[in-house]
Amino acid sequence: MAVSILALLIVGVGWVSAGRAAGPDIRIRQPGDFIGQDTTLDLAVEAPDGLLSALDVTVEQGGTSFPVYSLNAPLNEGATQDSAESLYVMRPIGRSAIADLRTGDARIVVRAARPVLYGFRQAESVVTKDVQVRLESPQVTVLSTFHYVNHGGAELVVYRVAPDDVTSGVRVGEQTYPGYPGSAAGLAGDAGVRVAFFALLHDQDLATPIEVVAEDPAGNTTAVPLDHRVFPKAFARSRITIDDRFLSRVIPAMAAANPDLNLATAPEALADSFLRVNRDLRRQNNQTLVELAGRTASEMFWRDAFQPLGNASVEAGFADYRTYLHDGEEIDQQVHLGFDLAVTAQVPITAAQRGRVLHAGNLGIYGTAVVLDHGLGVQSLYAHLSSVEVAPDELVDKGAVIGRSGMTGLAAGDHLHFTVLLQGQAVNPVEWWDPKWIQDRVLRKLDEAGRVR
Ligand SMILES: [Zn+2]
Repeated sequence: MAVSILALLIVGVGWVSAGRAAGPDIRIRQPGDFIGQDTTLDLAVEAPDGLLSALDVTVEQGGTSFPVYSLNAPLNEGATQDSAESLYVMRPIGRSAIADLRTGDARIVVRAARPVLYGFRQAESVVTKDVQVRLESPQVTVLSTFHYVNHGGAELVVYRVAPDDVTSGVRVGEQTYPGYPGSAAGLAGDAGVRVAFFALLHDQDLATPIEVVAEDPAGNTTAVPLDHRVFPKAFARSRITIDDRFLSRVIPAMAAANPDLNLATAPEALADSFLRVNRDLRRQNNQTLVELAGRTASEMFWRDAFQPLGNASVEAGFADYRTYLHDGEEIDQQVHLGFDLAVTAQVPITAAQRGRVLHAGNLGIYGTAVVLDHGLGVQSLYAHLSSVEVAPDELVDKGAVIGRSGMTGLAAGDHLHFTVLLQGQAVNPVEWWDPKWIQDRVLRKLDEAGRVR
């Protein structure tokens, strides 16, 4: 008798504590605050040994409950067992999956249970998330007119988005150029106005589609083809002879400036080291320029043409397709993306435009270099300097001395290598030096959109 009372007591204590046991751990990882046309639910559920007796996901709106997932068929697809403890569920949760979803408030409800006390009881947990359903695609209206794009060059578009919390920009083939609020370029008023510089890069096809694109926080997208005209440009081709005198000066200096490359400097290894620099290091440095572009300011620091370096003669044009020769053999081909301006040694190098210093120091093939940010994704690069006279984050005026000319990096002699970059991609600097181009392609459009002077 006493034994059975004790046994009942133990079962009773077990029953009560099992009722208090924690249910499975539920984390709704996606969506964020919005559901759109094609939103995906991303859910993680954790329970000891991965044992679940129930998992049901619904979207509730206006008194209706739409089933999204259940451990029981037919809604049990889209789940993966990630580890012994956790289960991931990926299910479409947008309007394309739930046809009766309407614009407005909704709630995601996740109910999970696991067996406790040998399956006699269930430990349950429920997690809900309030979301907003947005189904309309963003609207994009192009405001600026006459979009003329030179191959290898840049262009500006002014457009309006609605609603104004969308992210937007210009997509040119694989490249996307973000749009910035009109206020960043001095346009007052309308919160939906955006400005974006974009480019048709030297290596892109003339027929590359150019579209103004927008995406709202619910993932709804719009792409509007941009009415434009493209002008072909002939790019130069040249042959450059790499001699041993050049290699024996440049490679040891580059090995010292870039110790992490472990460049071989023995006389017989110089040609191979040159190829590593000309290919791998060039690619790596150009990637750095793209990363630096991510730090551009949402403010256009300038309102007039860029300033060319005084009395320098142009040695090489933009996008020069170069074949490199060594001992009479073709050893490499690269596109030279910038302007080489001949100068004598130690000439003061001035900022082409007002901007903030993003980089001042070694930049691989570019040697000692300065990168200035002019805002809205526009940057300028000054390479092969012997010294710099500015520091990162400093705001410099147009014409201010930023360093002295030299022949550091991959340079055959004293010259300034100058490039204008758009989101880290080299564009033809000649346009930016030209007051007429700045007026027609940039300032006219800002004026027509109501620029405050
Ligand atoms: Zn150059």
